[in-house]
Amino acid sequence: VPLDATHHPDRQSWVTSANALESEFPIQNLPFGVFRRLGSAESPRVGVAIGECVFDIAVAARLAPQRFTGEAVGTAVAACAHDALNALMALGREPARKLRAAIADALDASDADAEGELAAALVPMTDVKLLLPAHIGDYTDFYASVYHATNVGSMFRPDNALLPNYKYVPIGYHGRASSMVPTDTPVQRPVGQRKGPNDLEPTVGPSRSLDYECEVGVFIGRGNTLGDTIPLTDAEQHMFGLCLVNDWSARDVQAWEYQPLGPFLAKNFATTLSPWVVTMDALEPFRAPAFSRPDGDPAPLPYLSTPENEARGGVNITLEVRLQSSAMRARGEPPEPVSRTSFTHMYWTLAQLVTHHAMGGCNLRAGDLLASGTVSGPTKGERGCMLELTWRGAEPLTLPGGETRAFLEDGDVVELAAWCEAPGARRIGFGTARGVVLAAASS
Ligand code: MN
Repeated sequence: VPLDATHHPDRQSWVTSANALESEFPIQNLPFGVFRRLGSAESPRVGVAIGECVFDIAVAARLAPQRFTGEAVGTAVAACAHDALNALMALGREPARKLRAAIADALDASDADAEGELAAALVPMTDVKLLLPAHIGDYTDFYASVYHATNVGSMFRPDNALLPNYKYVPIGYHGRASSMVPTDTPVQRPVGQRKGPNDLEPTVGPSRSLDYECEVGVFIGRGNTLGDTIPLTDAEQHMFGLCLVNDWSARDVQAWEYQPLGPFLAKNFATTLSPWVVTMDALEPFRAPAFSRPDGDPAPLPYLSTPENEARGGVNITLEVRLQSSAMRARGEPPEPVSRTSFTHMYWTLAQLVTHHAMGGCNLRAGDLLASGTVSGPTKGERGCMLELTWRGAEPLTLPGGETRAFLEDGDVVELAAWCEAPGARRIGFGTARGVVLAAASS
């Protein structure tokens, strides 16, 4: 997809809050999401974020139908008349791309009639509840940061940190879709089986080492038929857009249960998503080369290798994790950044994850979510979970006010944020994936 008018950095909107330089949702972004007006009993609705508002697509198409004409745009608008984005995602890249361009034209400041026609389609974000963007049929979580894999491996297997398959196979596991929750849903500390290295028997109780994982998720758009593969040259056409994922993890439960089949209850109690799906089209100015493999690493196997993927398979996203204790909240202090990293550190590109997932004929479906795995970089400040950041609790974090953290405590808020910047492009943001930790259920 070439850069087009939707990416032009000087473009402004008649929704003036979108023109503020710090806005995550300028006219160049237009991420899709699902919302409901607070206090209403209406069905969830599809909208796009613009500045501090949500633009209700169905209302806009009713108010100014002449702005949403053309076969592909009409099909896309019709697919938005649902309580989730699955139908729009299923259409593939082109209809959503044309709808995004039509919405950009409708919100453009240079159109003298647009505000009068369409102002009634705007809802202030303060007046809505943001919901999950899609009905997620299947969720898969990968392990695509070699820095994360090496750090975690060296804690659990000091002699054998990175297993020999890592540089050949994009490692992942099939996760749990039913417990995926939208931002601002409280997360209850799970109860589970834990057994420390010096315990004779496991005990049952609230996790003592609750953690977050900062990840990027890709929503599948057009799916593939069972038995068919997705060649790497086609993988991007099956990717609708990206969101942020907090893969909450109970490390003590994980350490006891993970062998030999991998994560299970340690990761199935809650997974928090950011509400806005930033389309692959909006991300076009921020594409980057795939990870540069150091000398001595094997080349990806042929089915995971194309010149296009190597040149532009990456996405330059900056990710930040912020933490706020209940004491900080009581003192009116904002969440404190504890790490900042880049999605360009990932060993595998999203397209490689999609292609690998389907190589045996597994059918991916519109609305499925593939998460990247914890996004960690080479330095300590770039570690995307507390397990790495505190080195399994050995090097606790210090928060403003002097509190320390080995792992999360009840009342802590974890907030993931992300944005993209590039020379000559307007900065765009992802919004946040946020959740507060609640005490375990009393038994
Ligand atoms: Mn994970």
